[in-house]
Amino acid sequence: MDKSMGCKDGTSVEKLIFLRHQKLNCRMEWQNWAGNIRFSPNEIVRPKSTQEVVDLVKTGRKIRCIGTGHSWSGLAPTDDILMATDGLNQILSIDKVANTATIQAGAKLDDLNIELWEKGYSFSNLGSIAKQSLAGAISTATHGSGINFQILASQVTNFKLVKVDGEIIEVDKTEDSDLFNSAIVSLGSLGIITEMTINIDPKFNLHERSGVMDFEDVCDNILDWIKEQNHIKMWWFPHTDKMMVYRYNRTYEPVNDTWFRQKLMDEWLSVYFYRFMLWWGNRKPIRRKGINKNLLAKFLADVNRIERSYKVFNVPEPPIHRETEWAFDVSLTPTLLREYRKMVEDKGHLINFIQEIRFVKGDDFALSPCYGRDSVYVGAYNADNRGWDELLSDFEELATKHNGRPHWGKEFTVGSDYLKSVYPKWDEFQAVRKEYDPEGQFMNPMLEDLFR
Ligand SMILES: Cc1cc2nc3c(=O)[nH]c(=O)nc-3n(C[C@H](O)[C@H](O)[C@H](O)COP(=O)(O)OP(=O)(O)OC[C@H]3O[C@@H](n4cnc5c(N)ncnc54)[C@H](O)[C@@H]3O)c2cc1C
Repeated sequence: MDKSMGCKDGTSVEKLIFLRHQKLNCRMEWQNWAGNIRFSPNEIVRPKSTQEVVDLVKTGRKIRCIGTGHSWSGLAPTDDILMATDGLNQILSIDKVANTATIQAGAKLDDLNIELWEKGYSFSNLGSIAKQSLAGAISTATHGSGINFQILASQVTNFKLVKVDGEIIEVDKTEDSDLFNSAIVSLGSLGIITEMTINIDPKFNLHERSGVMDFEDVCDNILDWIKEQNHIKMWWFPHTDKMMVYRYNRTYEPVNDTWFRQKLMDEWLSVYFYRFMLWWGNRKPIRRKGINKNLLAKFLADVNRIERSYKVFNVPEPPIHRETEWAFDVSLTPTLLREYRKMVEDKGHLINFIQEIRFVKGDDFALSPCYGRDSVYVGAYNADNRGWDELLSDFEELATKHNGRPHWGKEFTVGSDYLKSVYPKWDEFQAVRKEYDPEGQFMNPMLEDLFR
């Protein structure tokens, strides 16, 4: 396998999709979901018990942990042990009095959605997909949308961590709040999480009312709307003056969504037809302006339905694309939307993908992008490697001007000086990290660079 074939050399998205289906592990080459990160670890291990994790840690060899590899950033690469957690995937217990579930770290959110539902429970909030592992999603501060809902890590009440000396400690949100707030979002840098206890809600449906709205109307009203809905998010289609606005509210009314609507909208149009339009636009990027306008005008109908919560929170897995996403003070939402739109047109970017805007309540976790402030997340996305570096760079100029904090699992190029300036607890976190991993057993090149 020619290892120079990464995204950054201009490999097309179509080719990457093709490459993902080849047997890439002939030389134990690992690649992330998006295909922009590839490397050959010395060894890939799949522990099936906490004791196996402890034994591996005690070897003193460098270890990086992965869930499902759905991060775009360089969190996984290591030249020694890559520890896949998919063998640790069980729900260990459910406490029906406290409404909590204790779950192994590598369990996939998709599986948990179904297993919890069958037992009468739901996650209180979720991101847009559920292909990630529980600990992977928690460790990078993965979030959904809803200004009264914090990042998914806030649902954790307690977790078990295998420390660098092999000792297993329990970190409790109430009893060890200082350590918990430092460790819950820590990118695998403090040790290996083997299980977590999370708050779960009795299962509920969501009533979705979504529709296309004028860009300027959204900018004018969004700060009021976010207070009126449980969950609200937007998809802006670049080169248009419209946005799809999604609103979801909790209900115990019965499901009324139909098999036909789901098949048509969530499979044929959102998956197959959308991929065809991306391919068509990628052959001649200037076509993207017309494609986006037509997609909005002809294919995005109003939605009014009631469905199981996880089926509304999660959308079909999107096509392979590049992505950066930053959290800002929520009061900046209208300014950011207008400035981002102007930047895209002024700089001549041709974007074929939706740009997602979401809202998250502030928290106390040292490395959470929402630390200390209710936040709006604004992302730049494109399903094309051509022009991506330029779009990322222009977006970062805008984002850093407004003191944004990048999503740890997505692409960003800012370094530790900038991050330190926007994370008030940066130094406190570094002190904990040095105490828990003084020799850097859990570090990799990206983290060594950021946490130096
Ligand atoms: C298509 C797509 C959609 C996405 N949608 C959203 C979204 O809606 N909202 C959002 O916020 N993000 C979203 N993301 C980003 C994604 O949620 C994060 O990157 C998440 O970390 C990926 O989970 P993973 O299981 O693949 O973790 P990985 O990418 O495999 O690992 C992420 C980090 O977790 C650490 N880690 C994993 N397991 C353990 C463990 N057991 N102990 C210690 N550390 C561990 C790893 O070391 C690494 O640092 C999306 C990504 C993709 C590709």
